[in-house]
Amino acid sequence: MTFDELQLHDTLLRAVKAEGYTTPTPIQAKAIPHALLGKDILGVAQTGTGKTAAFALPILQRLSAKAPAGGHRPIRCLVLTPTRELAGQVGESFMTYGKNLPLKHAVIFGGVGQAAQVQSLQRGLDVLVATPGRLLDLMDQGYVSLRSLEVFVLDEADRMLDMGFIHDVRKVIKALPAKRQTLFFSATMPPEIVDLSRNLLTDPVRVEVTPVSSTAETVAQQVYFVEREQKRGLLTHLLKDGKISRALVFTRTKHGANRVAKQLEGSGVTAAAIHGNKSQNARERALDEFRSGTLRVLVATDIAARGIDIDGLSFVINYDLPNVPEQYVHRIGRTGRAGATGTAVSFCDGEERAYLRDIERTIRRSVPVVEDHPYRSGMAP
Ligand code: AMP
Repeated sequence: MTFDELQLHDTLLRAVKAEGYTTPTPIQAKAIPHALLGKDILGVAQTGTGKTAAFALPILQRLSAKAPAGGHRPIRCLVLTPTRELAGQVGESFMTYGKNLPLKHAVIFGGVGQAAQVQSLQRGLDVLVATPGRLLDLMDQGYVSLRSLEVFVLDEADRMLDMGFIHDVRKVIKALPAKRQTLFFSATMPPEIVDLSRNLLTDPVRVEVTPVSSTAETVAQQVYFVEREQKRGLLTHLLKDGKISRALVFTRTKHGANRVAKQLEGSGVTAAAIHGNKSQNARERALDEFRSGTLRVLVATDIAARGIDIDGLSFVINYDLPNVPEQYVHRIGRTGRAGATGTAVSFCDGEERAYLRDIERTIRRSVPVVEDHPYRSGMAP
């Protein structure tokens, strides 16, 4: 499945490609076609699955199909999220994917002054992303009308419940027009959330994606404790082992990916970097060369590596540890596929110890430490 098969307009496809996405994630592939037809969706999915684009893309497409002719813009889409961080991220997604469209959005949440938020509401907008408390507050003050609402998104419904917001959510729902499309997302479905979804949704399409919290048994995991400035030496040291015919190396940043690739080239290892700033052509070329064995090392950021499938990849190296544990699971899932065995090596410096703890909690196991290497933290090489 490619994005081109999803019946999305060119403007949205361009924005998606500019982000470096090559293939829709499972929730996107399953939800977007139904959402585009105006169906209600029950999405059982957690953060990290690409659920934001799964609702933002079809919403942008449907809203832009009949943009208001001018005058005051009524709010046509409301996205309710439990936290200001998530509200900010969702707002950014609407901005990124909708950058070629004449639609406006705003993000409102509590804990900050309301003046700027009121101003953007008064200027008019198409998509409002909000946390429940501040939204109710501004509704009570008469700044928000949801009369013209066409689409309602409830994001992370189970967290709304955990955080004690469910009462506020119900109040907001009372103010929504009965005729609307509703997209409902929750990572888990406790009984109260099942009830809420039944009340909110009409003949929904249920889309469920399994959380990525377990790592394959076929992947041997190892961690090397190493000072940040010694990582480069450790990588070269590991690659001296002829058994590593090919390795996919992950870095957290685009800049880091470029630097590592350059350093490897400098020490005689064929390598290239792929990330969102590289053209599609450059990325495809690097991938082809890596697949054919011309390149021994491919250095990638998480986003660039999404959806890439490389047969027979037996080595993944986390040059930096990801700060989102699920990314670790995604990364190491590149190896040990289809029953083959693989090795996932992680470099961990002093500042990354907390990330390692989060990862171990998520995968519910501890990652074996390799003690015997010349770049061990606190030891001279
Ligand atoms: P979400 O689950 O919506 O929080 O998304 C998780 C991350 O995946 C975000 O950083 C997105 O930018 C990224 N993402 C979403 N869809 C795709 C895709 N099709 N390919 C690659 N990355 C994606």
